[in-house]
Amino acid sequence: MRIHIVQTGTVAIKQVQQAGRPSGNPILNILLDKNWTEPLPIYAFVIEHPEGLIVVDTGETARVSEPGYFPWWHPYYRYGLQEWVQPEQEIGPQMRALGLDPKDVRWVLLTHLHTDHAGSLAHFPKAEHLVSRQEYMHAKGRRGLLRGYLSNHWPGWFSPTLIDMLAQPSGPFPNTYPLTSTGDVRFVPTPGHTPGHLSVVVTAPQVTYFLAGDASYTQDLMLAGKVDGVSMDRQSAQRTLERIQQFCRQTPTVYLPSHDPDTPDRLANQQVAVPTSLPAFLPLEAA
Ligand SMILES: [Zn+2]
Repeated sequence: MRIHIVQTGTVAIKQVQQAGRPSGNPILNILLDKNWTEPLPIYAFVIEHPEGLIVVDTGETARVSEPGYFPWWHPYYRYGLQEWVQPEQEIGPQMRALGLDPKDVRWVLLTHLHTDHAGSLAHFPKAEHLVSRQEYMHAKGRRGLLRGYLSNHWPGWFSPTLIDMLAQPSGPFPNTYPLTSTGDVRFVPTPGHTPGHLSVVVTAPQVTYFLAGDASYTQDLMLAGKVDGVSMDRQSAQRTLERIQQFCRQTPTVYLPSHDPDTPDRLANQQVAVPTSLPAFLPLEAA
């Protein structure tokens, strides 16, 4: 099994969206914040697994620079988000550069359906797409658009398999959804950033990889238990961060959020997350 990381451009958001504020309306907080983050990477993952090629999130599309791609009437797209994606940064061309054919992908796993995670679905018309039922219901149609999902850009053929968790525990997660026959790739529920947000846990012989999507924007924010600024249900987001910390305490875990600039280094060096008062990064041998 081999995990590749692909950066599909960059995104800037408001600082209050990244680190959150415990009070006020999340959307108003974001619109009123004048401070942008640096351009943050938008990562997607490709897993070469014995049971088939797996993609975790598709990243963003270069179409974001087309006039009118974002709904002009939506305040978040006018005032809350900037993205930069070149055509060759899309996941399709990047997979081909790695010697992998997007047509060979068996499964596309979606942590959630925000545009920077589901913007490049078009590269995988033949794959089976999996997303949580709750996320899909939250994102589709006009209500989804109002919530900031770009369901109008989903390909016509997009008809994902809707996932409900099963009573199959994994560490502190009582319910999970195994994808592979051995369960070495499985969804775990990480609600908060969105109500139906999932993370993907990949169990390898030496270490476990936690592909966190936007469960937190960085590892430090997860370790600090700091809820982001878009979670509508802060309590549930808090519980998710505590559960991930507990998971990392029980199992040597390499934590890989979608927008953390340190994600590629941690993947390459198998640096595990250490949720104690110890330094946040320790090599595997010391864990
Ligand atoms: Zn998101």
